[in-house]
Amino acid sequence: MSKKQRLVYSTDQGRICPDCNQAAAVCQCDKLKKDKIPETDGIVRVSRETKGRKGKGVTLVSGAPLPEVELKNLAKRLRNLCGTGGTVKDGVIELQGDHCVVLLKELPKNGWVVKRSGG
Ligand SMILES: [Zn+2]
Repeated sequence: MSKKQRLVYSTDQGRICPDCNQAAAVCQCDKLKKDKIPETDGIVRVSRETKGRKGKGVTLVSGAPLPEVELKNLAKRLRNLCGTGGTVKDGVIELQGDHCVVLLKELPKNGWVVKRSGG
């Protein structure tokens, strides 16, 4: 008598991501890829906006070629760097206050072409 042996598929190995060599269960690559990277002209622009903000102003970083998740990480880093608050809106990082000088120094470290635009 033979009990029909059930074939057991091992899930020990699982799928290994070729990009990060981590198990698919912990890999974040797919998640990141799903985030669309906005179309840019390859130039990251730093600008200041005071209009309608009662003279206080904010510094905007637009055109960063990053999916939203990474953009938020970058915004966090920049907030710490500048010691200020800020948000990400429609692919644009917005920092409270004038931090153009700091950002123009910091952002090119990502290998980007960074320009100051506007006032
Ligand atoms: Zn991966």
